[in-house]
Amino acid sequence: MIKNSARIPIKSNSEIVSRLLLSWIANLLPDNFIYYFFKFIKRFTNTALRKKTNPICTWDFSFNSQKMTLSNSSTLKTGTFSISHDVDYASCYRYTKKLVALDRRYGINSSYFLLTNGSYTLDKQTVFYILDGGNEVALHGKNHNIALGHKSEKYISTFLDTSRKLLETIAGPVLGFRAPALSVSPLLLNILEKHRFSYDSSLCNSKHYSSFTPFYRPYIISNKLDEKNGAAGLIEIPLTIQDSMILNDLGLKNNDIAKIFDHLIKLAKDYYLNLVINFHPSIVEKNIDVYEKIILQLKTSSLPNLKIEDLIHHTSDDFQSCCD
Ligand SMILES: [Zn+2]
Repeated sequence: MIKNSARIPIKSNSEIVSRLLLSWIANLLPDNFIYYFFKFIKRFTNTALRKKTNPICTWDFSFNSQKMTLSNSSTLKTGTFSISHDVDYASCYRYTKKLVALDRRYGINSSYFLLTNGSYTLDKQTVFYILDGGNEVALHGKNHNIALGHKSEKYISTFLDTSRKLLETIAGPVLGFRAPALSVSPLLLNILEKHRFSYDSSLCNSKHYSSFTPFYRPYIISNKLDEKNGAAGLIEIPLTIQDSMILNDLGLKNNDIAKIFDHLIKLAKDYYLNLVINFHPSIVEKNIDVYEKIILQLKTSSLPNLKIEDLIHHTSDDFQSCCD
């Protein structure tokens, strides 16, 4: 059982209700329309968000270094960066192989989070192409249910069980999970632990990336072997920042994006942080120049590039004291 729920940011009641309502509506729509439905909804929420904040001016660059001490127990004596790709819709899946080729050109190894029964049909050829490129295949769910974490225990268990089995028949062992639309909850993390996933990568601070320190380094959510439940422990590898936020939600310009990554790279070097940067293939396709700039910035930073699954061997429990 996950005992320290203080380390898991809880979503507000209004967000949970909105997610449940929207996922119920999405359920009634044909697969092809779901993408456009959420795009329509996001257009309204983004307009409101942009009106409310001038993102780069209000961005909190003051980093609380007191909370972030270098870890003596860390086996990885350096900061790192990981790239992930959430393949949410058919439009993402169509661009996946091109993205694998693009990453290969830059010598990047990424982690691909795939759906098994979403608006695209997984085929062996694409999955093998991803793996052959030295990348990781992880689970993003059965479909893109934005309210997953707030469903019943039975629903979540079946959802995870069936989709993981299906993905493993094609890709082999699957270690990690990222909740659709980051719809994570303490219940979902408990079930992931019971199902012996090695890591979750769904926690993210979507407003101010420097305001909550655990979003920079993996931490152990539960490390006690629980004989009764057969749980093997679960590691959270938080998401630092993602493309939908900087490009779609906040609509940042190239200069501002570069400034943010300069800052993140400096923090990662100074404090041995593990940056996890998430992209969506369909967003990359429309912003290849921005994507290439970010990748080049990271590549030239001299931070090592690791797949997310590589990080699970390099965790320490540095955050215990800061977040309890
Ligand atoms: Zn997603």
